Amino acid sequence: MVLERPRQALRPAELPDPEPGAGQVLVSVHACGVCRTDLHIVDGELSEPKLPLVPGHQIVGIVARAGEGAERFAVGQRVGVPWLGWTCGECRYCLSGRENLCDGARFTGYDVDGGYAELAVADERFCFPIPQGYPDEQAAPLLCAGLIGYRALRLVGDAERLGLYGFGASAHILCQVAAHEGRRVFAFTRAGDEEGQAFARELGAEWAGSSDDAPPEEIDGAIVFAPVGPLMTTALRSSAKGARIISAGIHMSDIPSFPYEQLWGERLLGSVANLTRRDGEEFMSLAPRVPVRTEVEVRPLEEANEALDSIRDGTLRGAAVLRVRPGGGSA
Ligand SMILES: [Zn+2]
Ligand SMILES: [Zn+2]
Repeated sequence: MVLERPRQALRPAELPDPEPGAGQVLVSVHACGVCRTDLHIVDGELSEPKLPLVPGHQIVGIVARAGEGAERFAVGQRVGVPWLGWTCGECRYCLSGRENLCDGARFTGYDVDGGYAELAVADERFCFPIPQGYPDEQAAPLLCAGLIGYRALRLVGDAERLGLYGFGASAHILCQVAAHEGRRVFAFTRAGDEEGQAFARELGAEWAGSSDDAPPEEIDGAIVFAPVGPLMTTALRSSAKGARIISAGIHMSDIPSFPYEQLWGERLLGSVANLTRRDGEEFMSLAPRVPVRTEVEVRPLEEANEALDSIRDGTLRGAAVLRVRPGGGSA
């Protein structure tokens, strides 16, 4: 499925098979997760995609062929391809262990074609082995919703009382990780979304309510997943001294001004950007130990537009995943 122009629906297309270059693998795609970032790209809020573009950066598939010098994975091995597709290795960020901030980074399904397709090429250094026991479709949301959520959780620090604002694909994974770590999770959904609140409680949240509600206690940190700037200050107003409030999205509406006394007391507002390969390795080894169970709404590839709509409307429970090759089983 191809994006020709922002603010237009994706359209089905027959493209020539991509060729793996040096150090790349050709991946036969089994499943690809649908992320809110894909929606920001389609809606034109991230304004510089390659065009035409095959979106999708939560790719699970098997290596069909290796390009010149690519030796990390055997043909037939299952791999995941995440958002971070390439880094320069030379800028000040790459050289200081912060490749997620690389000045020249290329992102899968944005700067290079992604996984809303039967075939994709990827730099083998940025692929991950997928933990056994996860069928392809359940594994796909680990690659961004899980991974970037995990990085956000690390940035929040060891907050015991954790607020999660927006209970979508990422929060439904992180809620399980946080509960596993012994944190107390307070989950916030859109007003009136009682189903979403019940879902959060099922996954280990101690309390779930509307983002207009105050939590039963102050929170020691929060991750804001919904792309709604005012939630940053809402979370701040409910926070204890020393709390870190982290935005996990790549795009957000403006954050309103607020009195300094709400920030006073060593509270921090921050953001999380992209991922490092180390985050990926850590999270892929942690997920089966929790164990994280992903709840997915699977659609065939041709229904990519409908899957994006379900994120836009907030009607989704868990994560949206496109099935590309029928019958992709577990490893
Ligand atoms: Zn770099
Ligand atoms: Zn994503």
